[in-house]
Amino acid sequence: MAPADKYCRNCKGPMRLFVELSPAERALAAERDDVDPGTLDGYRRCSTDSCRRVQLYFNKSKGFNLPERLGWPNRE
Ligand SMILES: [Zn+2]
Repeated sequence: MAPADKYCRNCKGPMRLFVELSPAERALAAERDDVDPGTLDGYRRCSTDSCRRVQLYFNKSKGFNLPERLGWPNRE
């Protein structure tokens, strides 16, 4: 699945670009009780500045906010 424009619960408004999780973000998602391990590959992170929303590609109601300490490893 390529990055895609999806609705972000945090940002609202226009669609936002969601990108693949970094290894650190993925590890954090895997530790969560509310993330089904079978769906881990489907999670993407909102690429908008100041937003830490991670959500399931096909179900925006499934998601969480990253802790701020992870920073933005995917940013160029
Ligand atoms: Zn967002």
